[in-house]
Amino acid sequence: VKPPKGKPKWLRVKLPTGKKYTELRGLVDKYKLHTICTSGSCPNMGECWSEGTATFMILGNICTRSCGFCGVKTGRPETVDWEEPEKVARSIKLMNIKHAVITSVDRDDLADGGSIIWAETIQAIRRMNPNTTLETLIPDFQGKHKNINRIIAVKPEVVSHNMETVKRLTREVRIQAKYEQSLAVLKYLKDSGINRTKSGIMLGLGEKEEEVIQTLEDLRAVNLDIVTIGQYLQPSKKHLPVKQFITPDQFKKYEEIGLKMGFRHVESSALVRSSYRAQKHLT
Ligand code: SF4
Ligand code: SF4
Repeated sequence: VKPPKGKPKWLRVKLPTGKKYTELRGLVDKYKLHTICTSGSCPNMGECWSEGTATFMILGNICTRSCGFCGVKTGRPETVDWEEPEKVARSIKLMNIKHAVITSVDRDDLADGGSIIWAETIQAIRRMNPNTTLETLIPDFQGKHKNINRIIAVKPEVVSHNMETVKRLTREVRIQAKYEQSLAVLKYLKDSGINRTKSGIMLGLGEKEEEVIQTLEDLRAVNLDIVTIGQYLQPSKKHLPVKQFITPDQFKKYEEIGLKMGFRHVESSALVRSSYRAQKHLT
């Protein structure tokens, strides 16, 4: 399939502006804080930051996996920085973040999958920012309950794990992951008493409508609460090509289908990223 040329108009975004944005941007630059919002040049910064939401990545910026859609570097990860939990908690305090989303690279090189740093980060954030709510966007931890339990024990308000794509394309899109395993992780989280579970998929990778609907059904079947659906954009020429730009009407259709299925929240539009409007998902 020849990739479509030029971005459609609904994907063009305005540069972020506003007092809160300028203030946070200044802090991030001054203290060299690491947020996914800035490193991924996310189009939603203006909106998220003015609501007091930002996303932080822990456990370094080199991943042991090599998903075909993802802009993060693959390789041998850095050694674990045990100061990281405190650093992240301090950044959240400096930025006066009301709702923090924490995510990480996959650390298949570590026996604990990074889950100890994960838990310590959540505890440090809670200690230093008792009023900040949390969403943790976690890896699959290769399905190991022992590691997932460390996240469950510190009770983030929302726990998310992204399916990223439909079943048929999982091998191509995220080679080291398994569709069924990701579903099982989401089920385990819910069955273990996590209040809000969440997942996200990207469209435009060659999936068919019925496959998207099937994925939504599979997610409902594990009692998932919140789903995000956005347009895949190619981070560089080396990444998977965009096969299709999904129209705003089609996104709307998925939103309606999802709400009818009983999800608590469905965010479905081209610029939706998994942490977009994350604060809203607490309700
Ligand atoms: Fe940051 Fe996520 Fe919002 Fe983008 S969508 S600005 S990464 S919080
Ligand atoms: Fe990117 Fe996550 Fe895949 Fe690593 S596991 S390559 S960070 S999507």
